[in-house]
Amino acid sequence: MLYREFGKTKEKVSILGYGCMRLPCVSNNNKSVDEKEAIKQIRYAIDNGVNYIDTAYIYNEGISECVVGKALKDGYRQKIYLADKLPSWLIKSREDMDKCLNEQLEKLSTNYIDFYLLHALNKEYFENLKKNNVFDFLESAVSSGKIKYIGFSFHDELDIFKEIVDYYPWSFCQIQYNYLDKDYQAGEEGLKYASQKGLGIVIMEPLRGGSIATNIPKHIKDIWEEYSGGKKSPVYWALKFLWNYPQIHVVLSGMNNMDHIKENINIANKTKANSLNKEELNLIEKVKKEYESKIKIRCTGCNYCMPCDHNVDIPNVFKTYNDAYMFEDISGMKDKYNKFLEGKASNCIKCGKCEKSCPQHIQIRRELEKAIDLFENNK
Ligand code: SF4
Ligand code: SF4
Repeated sequence: MLYREFGKTKEKVSILGYGCMRLPCVSNNNKSVDEKEAIKQIRYAIDNGVNYIDTAYIYNEGISECVVGKALKDGYRQKIYLADKLPSWLIKSREDMDKCLNEQLEKLSTNYIDFYLLHALNKEYFENLKKNNVFDFLESAVSSGKIKYIGFSFHDELDIFKEIVDYYPWSFCQIQYNYLDKDYQAGEEGLKYASQKGLGIVIMEPLRGGSIATNIPKHIKDIWEEYSGGKKSPVYWALKFLWNYPQIHVVLSGMNNMDHIKENINIANKTKANSLNKEELNLIEKVKKEYESKIKIRCTGCNYCMPCDHNVDIPNVFKTYNDAYMFEDISGMKDKYNKFLEGKASNCIKCGKCEKSCPQHIQIRRELEKAIDLFENNK
């Protein structure tokens, strides 16, 4: 395993982190974690050098923290850094924060958390936490030894990311990043911005929720295979791309399969920063362009059209629509759309307000109709 110095904290973290959000389950129910298997997998990763274990209050509907606590018994807690997160959207008062942290420590069977994050910050959640004195809470928790370092994970636009980075002397942050998301949310610019300020950087969604790792469309597979003769997997390239940045310290993988764990560890054992040559970087760029050539709606996700008074989540409707074509996965994205997307296209009353603010001059109403056809008609 290779290790990197985690920004201003100077702690030596493994470049591969274990994301405990998708622990193996015995049924479709997210809470039905196969404890024995999960503990075996987590301990295998630790035995092979992974020292960054990441969980959150909400993972596996609260079960993840309990299972991680059990996996870290028998001396494993002392071998690793433990990361956990405050569920920003559930917090209504300062007391909620103390209550939540105490509950987390109990579930994890530990008396301290190394890296404590405000989970999934966006503008709204951050305002709410500030109003409820979150920094007083965090600093008291550091003073009492319950947490060591303060950070945040993030899902919003780049300018909000910079505002949050500048607001407080954070030790670290966690952002979504992969070769398709160079300009999405914090993106490459945000990554470099936070790094310049000395923050440790953790990456989530390295494989875009698995979309760039499995069920790869043939035209993409052909490009990878032409280069390496099928010897190097899409996962290899996706991880190499990330670890090539010296600014990135930990890449979190939500692992629940022993073969994947072994493959990830194997790649992490060898991948140094700045190790991709020009030809390899061009190859990744070529794959990115090939994926992007399948995009149907040229929406950049800038959010200028939002909010819609009728609760249409325009950028996310378009993103899911584009992903369906990019990954040739209409049924998977239809499922995702119907299960998880709150602001559906069919909420649109065609007022046209959004179109006046779109810098890409997208005919939003017309494109929303197409999304309705693909995802909502004949459900
Ligand atoms: S046209 Fe539809 S999506 Fe656009 S602002 Fe009006 S209701 Fe919202
Ligand atoms: S303003 Fe246009 S480009 Fe920006 S998110 Fe809305 S639809 Fe997409």
